[in-house]
Amino acid sequence: MKVSEGIKVYFGNIYESVTTISMGMWITFKTAFFERKVTLQYPSHDIIEGQAKDASLPEQKNLPPPFEHLLGASQQNYRGPLNTQLTERYRGLLGYDELKCISCLLCAQNCPIDVIRVKGVKIEGRKGKAPTTFRIDYSKCMFCGFCVEVCPTDAVFFTRQFEGATFEYRTLIREFISPELYLERLQLAEVAKKKAIEKKKKKQENEEKEQ
Ligand code: SF4
Ligand code: SF4
Repeated sequence: MKVSEGIKVYFGNIYESVTTISMGMWITFKTAFFERKVTLQYPSHDIIEGQAKDASLPEQKNLPPPFEHLLGASQQNYRGPLNTQLTERYRGLLGYDELKCISCLLCAQNCPIDVIRVKGVKIEGRKGKAPTTFRIDYSKCMFCGFCVEVCPTDAVFFTRQFEGATFEYRTLIREFISPELYLERLQLAEVAKKKAIEKKKKKQENEEKEQ
């Protein structure tokens, strides 16, 4: 390398170092002195409106909407409740549609850590078994998706709900079948059982007559 070229590279490096450091320092300076500071009181305040979610919470200084642009770069296009911005495939808390469930137990059997508990009974006018118990222990779930994959009716699925934090452990165990529905199902199961016995009896009688 010629001496002139070496000098060129040397000063070029100095120039590059000074300009990149200056750019970084300018961004820090601009953020520190010219940009408005925002503290989001999440989750007690709504992330869009800046309003307290729960009226019982102590009143805090609300942010005047709109302030979306003040959120991080990943939220630049934020225009609604946060979970609408999550992808379709986002694995949030598990959801359940009891009308689709046939109580096949596949989800419970395929869960590696025993998160789901299912029980069902045979009732009239319902495909498979009608669930009498469907319980999810959210404190254990690791969002692996095995239950969702094996469910033949899409009764169990991932929602985009991610706000699952709580101060009470028991609130993480969710019963999807209400006590009223549970009792109703047991009664319907009794009716279905009696009808099935009567049907069997009649069939036997008819067979005996034919003989
Ligand atoms: S996502 Fe995985 S850990 Fe959670 S309930 Fe389903 S199978 Fe079990
Ligand atoms: S796999 Fe689906 S249909 Fe079967 S018990 Fe679970 S939720 Fe119900």
